[in-house]
Amino acid sequence: MEEVVIVGAGIAGLATAVALQKVGVRALVLERSKELRATGAALGLFANAWVALDALGVSDKLAALYAPFERGYITDVKTKSTREVHYSPSNRTGAQTRVVHRKVLLEVLADELPPNSIRFSSKISSIETQVEDGSSISIVTLDDGTIIKSKAVIGCDGVHSIVARWLGLRPPVYSGRSAVRGLSVFPKGHGFDHGHAIQQFVDVGTRAGFIALNDKELYWFFGAACPPKGMEKGADPEVIQKEVMEIAAKDFPPVYLDVVRHSDLSTLTWAPLMFRYPWDILFGNLAKSNVTVAGDAMHPMTPDLGQGGCSALEDAVVLGRHLGDSISKHGKLETRDIGFAIESYAKERRLRAATLITASYLSGWVQQDGSNRLTRFLRDVFYGNLLTRAVRSIAQYDCGRLPSASSLPSRESEIST
Ligand SMILES: Cc1cc2nc3c(=O)[nH]c(=O)nc-3n(C[C@H](O)[C@H](O)[C@H](O)COP(=O)(O)OP(=O)(O)OC[C@H]3O[C@@H](n4cnc5c(N)ncnc54)[C@H](O)[C@@H]3O)c2cc1C
Repeated sequence: MEEVVIVGAGIAGLATAVALQKVGVRALVLERSKELRATGAALGLFANAWVALDALGVSDKLAALYAPFERGYITDVKTKSTREVHYSPSNRTGAQTRVVHRKVLLEVLADELPPNSIRFSSKISSIETQVEDGSSISIVTLDDGTIIKSKAVIGCDGVHSIVARWLGLRPPVYSGRSAVRGLSVFPKGHGFDHGHAIQQFVDVGTRAGFIALNDKELYWFFGAACPPKGMEKGADPEVIQKEVMEIAAKDFPPVYLDVVRHSDLSTLTWAPLMFRYPWDILFGNLAKSNVTVAGDAMHPMTPDLGQGGCSALEDAVVLGRHLGDSISKHGKLETRDIGFAIESYAKERRLRAATLITASYLSGWVQQDGSNRLTRFLRDVFYGNLLTRAVRSIAQYDCGRLPSASSLPSRESEIST
């Protein structure tokens, strides 16, 4: 019997495993891939993510590798006018936004876990619960027929989560927009003297940008209101690159096209942008019988405020905090306490997750439309100060700290049922 099974070794799954380990709860992470998957190449981590990473004990390691970005330039492709925006540090914590390689983030989190905590090539195909000796236990079945019992299951299995489906949450919906992401490599250095500034370009129904990860690598993205022709899941990266350069972004400035031209094709992916209706989060089952969800499995959102991964890190700390508080209160963690901690976690996350989904969706609509005077006006106003203010206020969120291990009673024995 495992203490906790976590489904998925993405940002949410690994961060949750680290949080649980910090409060003395053992977790087994089941990942369907053969190794850590880093689809999307890189991501922006805002101040709220750094608070969570600090609680998880890994912020210093990551911050040492990536410089913060403080400003951005937004160019209107049609008028060629460029505006500067500023991303100032969080008032509360002083944390700044950094863009990090996804793979590095996953590896740094995985390094915190004891050996054999992650079991790769382990795809769960079903989940059920039953009562044993008066306590609810969860049973997950893998593709190969293996059955694993545990006291709790945390579904961190992404947008198409099996665990969310089991909880009864309605499937996410397509936003009508999609995005391409990739890394560009300049072996002799890209030479951008803007340093760590994000460059963005907006046109009718499209939005794109790039930012330096270091002297040689740039992360770039391209978002479109409808999937450019030839792009689909699993499409050949060469086709995607050609499509962006020659059709979808052909009128974009040469500096952007040159970045796309230097793509490392193995990092290039296209994704439809999905989200869960906020009312499904507000009124749906986020937890049932010691089973819950975190990250995209709970709150898939459009990436317009760069908060999907950041909020997955928040989830991990909040869940760990509730479990840790329960351990300090009762001296041990009984199965019913896990259920109570999971319920409290779900209750705490509901409003935050629904707010982020809504704010991201609205911000995406304003940022990317620009098809008429009103939306262009809204876009220009929003993109100036409002966007940075919205990002800033959302990123002020503090997910709290984990109880320190020394304050928790020793848990040498198994969880009692
Ligand atoms: C274009 C784009 C740009 C983005 N930019 C940002 C950004 O700048 N900042 C930010 O914070 N967020 C950003 N996001 C959002 C962010 O990528 C996601 O919110 C984040 O990756 C979610 O992590 P996760 O661990 O919940 O899910 P995932 O990363 O999807 O991980 C789920 C894991 O579960 C595994 N899995 C799935 N099913 C099973 C199963 N049945 N059994 C076992 N394992 C399973 C998968 O293999 C995977 O490893 C962006 C998203 C997109 C699409």
